[in-house]
Amino acid sequence: MTYTISVRALCEFTARRGDLDRRFTPSPTAQEGVEGHALIAARRRPGYEKEIALETEHGELRVRGRADGYDSTANQLEEFKTHRGSLERMPENQRALHWAQLRMYGALFCRARGLPEIQLALVYFDIASEKETTLLERHSAPALESDFTAQCERFIGWAQQENAHRAARDAALAGLRFPFADFHAGQRELAEAAYKTVRRGGALLAQAPTGIGKTLGTIFPALKAMPAAGLDRLFYLSAKTPGRRLALDALAHIERSSPENPLRVLELVARDKACEYPDKECAGDSCPLARGFYDRLTAARAAAVQRRFLDHATLREIAAAHHVCPYYLGQELMRWCDVVVGDYNYYFDTSAPLYALTGTQQWKVCLLVDEAHNVVERARKMYSASLERVSLEAARFAAPLILKASLERVSRAWEALLAGQAEPYRVYEEVPESLLGALDRLITAMTEILAEQPGLLAPELEDFYFEALNFRGLAAVLESDTLFDVTRESAASSQTDTLCLRNIIPRRFLTPRWTAAHAMVLFSATLSPPEFHLDMLGLPADSRRIDVRSPFKAEQLTVRIARAISTRWRDRAASVEPITRLIATGFTAQPGNYLAFFSSFDYLQQVATRFGQRYPEIPIWCQERGMSEPERDSFLRRFAPDGRGIGFAVLGGAFGEGIDLPGTRLIGAFIATLGLPQVSAVNEEMQRRMELRFGAGYAYTYLYPGLQKIVQAAGRVIRTTEDQGSVYLMDERFAWPEVRRLLPRWWQVETLGLSKGSSTAARGSNTE
Ligand code: SF4
Repeated sequence: MTYTISVRALCEFTARRGDLDRRFTPSPTAQEGVEGHALIAARRRPGYEKEIALETEHGELRVRGRADGYDSTANQLEEFKTHRGSLERMPENQRALHWAQLRMYGALFCRARGLPEIQLALVYFDIASEKETTLLERHSAPALESDFTAQCERFIGWAQQENAHRAARDAALAGLRFPFADFHAGQRELAEAAYKTVRRGGALLAQAPTGIGKTLGTIFPALKAMPAAGLDRLFYLSAKTPGRRLALDALAHIERSSPENPLRVLELVARDKACEYPDKECAGDSCPLARGFYDRLTAARAAAVQRRFLDHATLREIAAAHHVCPYYLGQELMRWCDVVVGDYNYYFDTSAPLYALTGTQQWKVCLLVDEAHNVVERARKMYSASLERVSLEAARFAAPLILKASLERVSRAWEALLAGQAEPYRVYEEVPESLLGALDRLITAMTEILAEQPGLLAPELEDFYFEALNFRGLAAVLESDTLFDVTRESAASSQTDTLCLRNIIPRRFLTPRWTAAHAMVLFSATLSPPEFHLDMLGLPADSRRIDVRSPFKAEQLTVRIARAISTRWRDRAASVEPITRLIATGFTAQPGNYLAFFSSFDYLQQVATRFGQRYPEIPIWCQERGMSEPERDSFLRRFAPDGRGIGFAVLGGAFGEGIDLPGTRLIGAFIATLGLPQVSAVNEEMQRRMELRFGAGYAYTYLYPGLQKIVQAAGRVIRTTEDQGSVYLMDERFAWPEVRRLLPRWWQVETLGLSKGSSTAARGSNTE
């Protein structure tokens, strides 16, 4: 079996030596690189050959690439490299890598043209000064050939191993058996739909209730379909750590049930969680795990692929044994693992590495997107940027003389923009040219300083630099799916001003990411209505949808709407007493563990305080702002089996979804809010644009996001077919037909007519 590899990837594998250096240096952007290449080529004499495609075989290896240019008069093959700042500071191992690449092109070129020798020119092009620095080497064809052979031989063992791995993996996956005796109810339906989608390609939007085993119900069919679909990689993308954990558990289960399966699984964790030396820089002269990283990478990589199941703990262990950085070892292993489990940002973010690798490696990939109702909100954040006045002022304060004028210009453009704004919030049609121009000049000045003297700028300046770069990048592609707004918390002080490019419809940014994948399965308990998610995410128009029936019976869950209580803002104060009473009544009728959800910490505190005064005999515990992971664990530990008490929490927060409290650990939930986002200037503008674009302003801005949180929170109560419980929905609006339609079909809802919460006025299935 032939293994195809690019010259660049081959050299990165075989010719990289020495230290890792990931300190920020302002390298040219991709666009600048393309323009730089075009400029150099335009300077060459007529008859100069550009972009020469080269390909050859060595044993089972097919090596291909594209040499930048050839001057036949001088018999000179050229490789262009754009850079910024002094060449002196380019690490030696990077230069060596460039030469290795060019020598390999030289060998391929001599082979293709039958040349006995050639001159190689490494042309460095400074983006700022447009100056070329050319380094020359002359080689005979046999010398280049022997170098090429040596590089290939160094890689061929690995290529053979990879080919054998792929064949063994696909054979094992084709025969993979479900690791349990049978599927849960509903799980089979989900698995079949996922299997068909992965085989054929395209998108599936699967709404499936909690408790049916969605994780295994999507991972198993996707793995099973991998060989037939010719998939290279499977990416399991989750919104939060618990989702990643569940996926790894499911994969570990599959691994235990088919130990002969050589599948390689990798967990990606964020740099700040994986880093062993948070006080150091990622460079050989600072961090011991970056020093000589590439010299030890070969052995670490080989050890890692042997271990196959690379969760964070295992990767850390291997990295320690080989004295390399675990984070960057993980980044390298992204190339060599079959299944990668990581946060959304590894595929959806502006600089997502899994998305980039999919393109450069031409992988056929499948995406499994867990808790997919979170993608809209997360993607909005990824494609938004802001500039705060307080950061600008900090930068001005810390600026060296050389930057003072540029920062002053930004400040003046900022002042001019705000001169006419007395109100606390305003949306502008566009970012003024004067501000963009001032930012451009500042960015250029700071880039030059950073290129010449990295580390010279104070942290406040570097922070502002990155914020400005991000803001400028998004401003360049501003469209009506993104608001440009200015918030002034205080008219008296400009220190509180924030300029924001606020994405509200991320579909434009996500569409290329869906297009790059062969298949994608997005699943969640709350994807209603699917049109909302299709519109927001820009999924293909022919995306399939399924709504898996719940395995739970209506008798398992009592749902009561307390319509006499209003949780509207104006009725908040008056609602505290009836809510308190209803919670106590529900608890007394059926003592056990409950969660009570509120729209804000303030509301939560008001009710918790009143409740504590009135019913001191009932234990309560409250969510607090910014709880750490151990604090959150301790909150959840209070939900002991057969325990009695009420945990007060905020809807949409850490306890509103993604937590699992089966059996008597949780027997009910009180929900004192409709979950609607607050009416604010931002949301009102968002509503206006949603109306213009989709004709559904209120639903897309308020109703659907709110109800999604309600169903998620209520979904904490029934986790298995044995669970019994109750949910109290406190607000008359829950009885409205347009709201009822968004509640799960299997719920049977009772409506309480009296504020004391003791009378059943009506009862009906939610399918009405
Ligand atoms: S251990 Fe930390 S500082 Fe060192 S290279 Fe890794 S991420 Fe960078």
